[in-house]
Amino acid sequence: MASTLPSDSSFNPRRDRRRRLFGSWWKRQSPARQDRFVTLGPVLSVLLFLAAIIAAFWYLRNEEFEREQESVKRDTEIAQQQIRLRLIENQEQLVRMARELATKAIDQDELIGQSVSFVRERPEVVSLTWVGADRAIRTQHFSPNHPMDAARAIERRAPYPSSPAASAMLAPRSGQRPSAAVSAPPATPAAPPSLGAEPDWAFGAARDLRQPVYSRPFTGAGGQPVFQIHVPLIDRSAFSGVLIAEYSLESLLRHFVPGEVTRRHAISLLDADRRVLASTVSRELADSSRRPAFVEDVVVSPVGNGLTLRGQGWRTSIGLIGNTLFWMVVALSALTVWMLGGTWRHMRRRGQMQSALIAETNFRRAMENSMLTGMRAMDLEGRITYVNPAFCAMTGFAEHELIGRLPPFPHWPPDRIEESMRLFQQELQGKSPAGGIEVKVLRKDGSVFDARMYVSPLIDARGHQTGWMTSMTNITEAKRIRDQLSASHERFTTVLEGLEAAVSVLSVQEGELLFANRSYRLWFGAEAQGHALLAGGNAAPPPSPADRDDEVDGLGGLPTQELTEAKSDAREVFVAPQQKWFDVRARYLQWTDGRLAQMIIATDITARRRAEEQAQHQAEKAQETSRLITMGEMASSVAHELNQPLTAIVNYCNGMVSRVKAGSIGEPDLIAALEKTSKQAQRAGQIIHRIRAFVKRSEPQRQPAQAREIVEDAVELAGIELRRRNVEIHSYVAQRLPTIMVDPILIEQVLLNLLKNAAEAIDNARLPSARRHIELRVIPRHTPDEGGVIEFSVTDNGPGLPDEVIARLYEAFFSTKSDGLGIGLSLCRSIVESHRGRIRAENLYNGSTVIGCRFSFTLPVEAGSASHERSPADAVAAPPPSPSLTPNA
Ligand code: ADP
Repeated sequence: MASTLPSDSSFNPRRDRRRRLFGSWWKRQSPARQDRFVTLGPVLSVLLFLAAIIAAFWYLRNEEFEREQESVKRDTEIAQQQIRLRLIENQEQLVRMARELATKAIDQDELIGQSVSFVRERPEVVSLTWVGADRAIRTQHFSPNHPMDAARAIERRAPYPSSPAASAMLAPRSGQRPSAAVSAPPATPAAPPSLGAEPDWAFGAARDLRQPVYSRPFTGAGGQPVFQIHVPLIDRSAFSGVLIAEYSLESLLRHFVPGEVTRRHAISLLDADRRVLASTVSRELADSSRRPAFVEDVVVSPVGNGLTLRGQGWRTSIGLIGNTLFWMVVALSALTVWMLGGTWRHMRRRGQMQSALIAETNFRRAMENSMLTGMRAMDLEGRITYVNPAFCAMTGFAEHELIGRLPPFPHWPPDRIEESMRLFQQELQGKSPAGGIEVKVLRKDGSVFDARMYVSPLIDARGHQTGWMTSMTNITEAKRIRDQLSASHERFTTVLEGLEAAVSVLSVQEGELLFANRSYRLWFGAEAQGHALLAGGNAAPPPSPADRDDEVDGLGGLPTQELTEAKSDAREVFVAPQQKWFDVRARYLQWTDGRLAQMIIATDITARRRAEEQAQHQAEKAQETSRLITMGEMASSVAHELNQPLTAIVNYCNGMVSRVKAGSIGEPDLIAALEKTSKQAQRAGQIIHRIRAFVKRSEPQRQPAQAREIVEDAVELAGIELRRRNVEIHSYVAQRLPTIMVDPILIEQVLLNLLKNAAEAIDNARLPSARRHIELRVIPRHTPDEGGVIEFSVTDNGPGLPDEVIARLYEAFFSTKSDGLGIGLSLCRSIVESHRGRIRAENLYNGSTVIGCRFSFTLPVEAGSASHERSPADAVAAPPPSPSLTPNA
């Protein structure tokens, strides 16, 4: 409600303020109340109109009543005035006549003459009578205007005294109607004659009062109501009779009530008892019980005595007409109110429908406005007829900039007008694909975004197509994400496909191959078989039909979460059909659809395994070679060692030959000598056997072995060298050593190497014989990091190890000796560590002087396993195959 500015001329601050107050009051009302006011207004106005009409009718009616009353009153007064004036005038005339008569200014004859003219000129007067003080009628003159009355008077008023002279005189003078002039018979002088009740009373009153006196109305001689005026004749205060004029009431009315008055109203004369004496209308009408509407009573002066002039007015037909009009208005008002009621009901229904419509419209508007999808409606020609706020917000164009536009639309990118036009034509022909089309849309600020448009025909309520509805969604973000996703998917697949390892995912329950990369497909095809082969014992259990039926997962309710969180285990598996070794890492995961699945990454490690095997083989060869070398090195010592039994055998044989030849030997001596010879031969054989056993080429195999036996064999072999170098050995082996799982030859080789090195160090240092000894100790030990082990230690009193030697001690081909190969300690370490043991070297000090060194190695009590599969730990613990050990190196 925009308040209109008041024009300068019509500006009225108070009115303006009132309007504003009303406006604010109106606005404060609820819509329902406003509606009620609006509907009640007409009803109220109709009722007000009706009230006004009633009031107007009431007022008019009253007005009319008053006017009528006024009119009756006026007419009555006019009539009364006329009558009064006439009566006064008559009275004056009579008084003059009476005076003249009394003072004898006129005589009887003159009186008769005057009477004749008096009566003739006054139609209201019935008779004029001169009555003496004795109530005897002296003269009496009847009006010719009342012949009937006169006749009756003669009949009925016999007792009225009338002088015959007067009658005689009257007769010729009257002339007109001689029959009317009647002389009354002479009264009896004895008793005063009676004039009648009323006249008697008036006579007495006039005589007593010496004034003209009016009688009360009474029925005259003609049966007509009359009244009389008695004018006393006073002669020098002596009463000498009265002059009586008798008035006919009817004549009074007839002659002195104006014609227009009688036409309008009924004028009646009533006596003191309110009896109608005379009336301008029929007596019945004047006297009827029907109550006249308007009545005005006026005393007829100067008569008095209760003679009343009554004016009567009746309600005319205007009342009826007014009533009809009134009832018509009432009926019309009632009809209007009824119709208003109907209108009101109708309006209420309309209002309800309207509010429902408004609610619906608001809902739809809200829906439209809150929608993020841009909507555009076009008519059949392609003119834009509607756009929603989302469309405007998307494109940046205002509604008025789009509505009514024909192509090319402002949101078409200028460089794509042709394509847009083609799509537009397609749209108009209804050939747009149901899945929508991707378009570029130009914003008002010049930027362009990607959108997807869906087109559907716009059908109106009657089922006719009126145009096309296009919905548009901004897919820039979606497209970006989609592009990113597809790029990342591509990267992912590229990486997965490019992997050398086979990656496969198998659903745990269905045993269905969910994913397999290129390497997998290459090796195993698209079958789940390969996965099962790789998984080996840990393959996802194939779902049994029973399991499927009772919908229990194949893992027997194992919490899948824990499964998927479990670390992958790595195993090396040989797959026979492919003749390949795989490093297999398996783990459980939740597949994209929520199913539990097992993923396997299998890396082809066949080449590594071959290299390892080769390295192993070479290491074995190296060990064997090393043993041969050791024996080669010990060859002179061995020869020396063998020389003794052989020399002894030769000596025994020579001695026996000479003594047999000399015959100085007995059989027992011979047998003893032969036995000694045999022992020496056995000893030599034993040496050779041991050496053969040591260098014999055999597959390395671990077996339960006793440390003591290994030590004994090693000391036996080393003894050959030690003896030659003149070095003593003290060995100490603890009692009840646990059995160890080792390859005895290899351990013996280690021990021999350490003993030989110690002997060489002592020999090379040319130590005195007091320090030429080696100590070998074998004791069980328990270390916190290795657990139960058996420790072998070789201690010598040699020169010890310089720092630079310690640093490179286990390096292959590192030697400080001129003829040394430098592979001894390197092999020792690899052998010990392959038995999960450790080897270390340390100098022995006396104060700060090195007095020797000690080499020790440990072997775990439960060392080794019979398994052919190498555990990862083995793989990790095993030293990398040294290139120096390869035959090529
Ligand atoms: P080689 O005996 O052929 O030299 P080894 O690997 O057995 O090769 O020994 C490497 C080196 O370690 C030796 O050259 C030597 O200098 C040193 N060495 C080994 N044992 C001792 C020891 N008991 N006392 C002093 N030096 C030693």
